[in-house]
Amino acid sequence: MNNNWDTSCDVVVVGSGAAGLTGAITAAHQGLDVLVVEKLAGWGGTTAYSGGGMWIPDNYLMAEDGARDSFQEALQYLEAIIEDVGPASSRARKEAYLRRGPEMVELLRDLGMKWSRVALYPDYYPFVPGAKTGRIIEAEVFNARKLGDLKDSVIDAPLPPMAFGTGDAALLPIATRTWKAFRRLMGIMGRTIGWHLTGKIPFPLGKALVGNMMHVLQSNFNVPIWLETPLKDLVMEDSRVVGVVVEQQGEIKRIQANRAVLLAAGGFAKNDSYRRKFQPVGEEWSSAPPGDEGDAIRIAGKIGAALAMMEQAWWGASMEINGEISFSVYERSLPGSMIVDQTGQRFANESTSYVDLGEEILRREAETGKAVPSWMVFDARYRKRYLFGMLPPGYTPQKLVEDGSLIKADSLDDLARQTGMDGVTLKETIGQLNSYARHGIDKDFRRGDGIYDRFYSDPTVKPNPNLAPLEKAPFWAVRVYPGDLGTKGGLLTDEYARVLREDNSVIEGLYASGNSTASVMGGTYPGPGASIGPAATFSYIGMRHAAGEPAAEQPGEPG
Ligand SMILES: Cc1cc2nc3c(=O)[nH]c(=O)nc-3n(C[C@H](O)[C@H](O)[C@H](O)COP(=O)(O)OP(=O)(O)OC[C@H]3O[C@@H](n4cnc5c(N)ncnc54)[C@H](O)[C@@H]3O)c2cc1C
Repeated sequence: MNNNWDTSCDVVVVGSGAAGLTGAITAAHQGLDVLVVEKLAGWGGTTAYSGGGMWIPDNYLMAEDGARDSFQEALQYLEAIIEDVGPASSRARKEAYLRRGPEMVELLRDLGMKWSRVALYPDYYPFVPGAKTGRIIEAEVFNARKLGDLKDSVIDAPLPPMAFGTGDAALLPIATRTWKAFRRLMGIMGRTIGWHLTGKIPFPLGKALVGNMMHVLQSNFNVPIWLETPLKDLVMEDSRVVGVVVEQQGEIKRIQANRAVLLAAGGFAKNDSYRRKFQPVGEEWSSAPPGDEGDAIRIAGKIGAALAMMEQAWWGASMEINGEISFSVYERSLPGSMIVDQTGQRFANESTSYVDLGEEILRREAETGKAVPSWMVFDARYRKRYLFGMLPPGYTPQKLVEDGSLIKADSLDDLARQTGMDGVTLKETIGQLNSYARHGIDKDFRRGDGIYDRFYSDPTVKPNPNLAPLEKAPFWAVRVYPGDLGTKGGLLTDEYARVLREDNSVIEGLYASGNSTASVMGGTYPGPGASIGPAATFSYIGMRHAAGEPAAEQPGEPG
């Protein structure tokens, strides 16, 4: 019997991203006494770095907008796109996620969370039955002043203090191309100035999400958050988890958890040795923050938790500019650009979802050894028209050319020479793409065919808004790597978010969600927000279960 506890509560939540905060809110709402421990000095995790979108089919905002959706259609869609990756994406887990995600969103709304919906953002496989547009919701821009002193300890995420959301983000890169986009940019600028003039501090995107969640947690329940307090171990009694060991300022503390421990400590994107053990690449091109080192996965693994899908990540194409890793969402999709391997050949639809593009880069590398890095190539017209990373249209500091972040060339021969590509192949590829652009059909990879591709496009470019000829010097090239937004393999959990052993038995008292777990999404990404949506939902489900929710109210029964 362990009775030498330093402190005691009902639930210890490990981690303060979307999974942790949603779990803490749910448990506190159930009347449980909750403590959150966070390893870093800043709270918010990868979630604070993110776009903050959550993919929640059939949510109440859709209903309010008159947008039709249903559990059955969403399930049909998920069943069609998620390959069999084993129990992490079992039918029961998919159903649990789809049934209870909307409920989780409504609970947070009822407690004061301000949601909005990005009505025009399509699912990533729009041709698959059950796909819809506008299943993504996000938190409204958040005034960080509402958090008092806690605003100062949010993780230092690289998001500008501007009043904008995901829906705006698609228009910003083309702000000089259409009046609609220009007006949107002006609106954001005006709103941002207004916020600052009135003493408000705007948290956008992922910071809006965690800011809103933290505010809900504190204003309703005043739950303590212990920063710089990493989980070090789990305490077991009769094969049940009954508490945690943490470290605080060099001191070891034991915390009793009468009901549950929720592991919401993210994945292992920044643990290079883990990544090299399980994955094709290391941590260097990941956009996740430094605390994402797989602690929870390792610690629960030690007590017999089963691991699954450790080779998986939320892949994508990353660029390195000025020494900073930048995950490419819109740059690769806009017309007048293409991605080629080191021989100068295209190998994928550049406008496809980032997960698929990341996987294509990895596949190409495995097959040819010539895709890491690949090159994003574009011409002068593209650079003049569009935002590139944070570089405004037409403005490229010479320093970035000098440090090799961007290669600039007067001719295609010069570009080939500077990048090491074969000039003849490069010219052939561009000639082919230019011809596709003129006819509007990419016969090789169907770029621009679907509404997802066109979400990031230039509608003034005809006939295909994702394709324009590359013909105007100077030509540019940027290195592209298989980056990621974090990993998505880890602890195997059931439809109640309980951590399982290899033999499928439940480790009583231990729950997990978010990137600490093997994702319900398997190897795919159905739509915008498909990482944070399940992270928050399974925390909600798990903490309801821990609070003793009757089985009849748990997922599984058709509703
Ligand atoms: C640039 C970017 C954009 C993205 N955009 C989106 C998007 O729009 N929609 C979407 O769905 N996904 C998006 N993602 C992915 C998404 O942000 C993450 O997958 C998700 O936020 C993970 O949530 P989480 O709560 O599991 O982990 P996190 O948010 O990473 O939180 C885990 C927390 O646990 C802490 N921790 C780690 N170890 C310990 C320990 N030993 N003890 C205590 N605490 C510990 C960490 O420091 C961290 O604060 C994006 C990611 C990035 C990088």
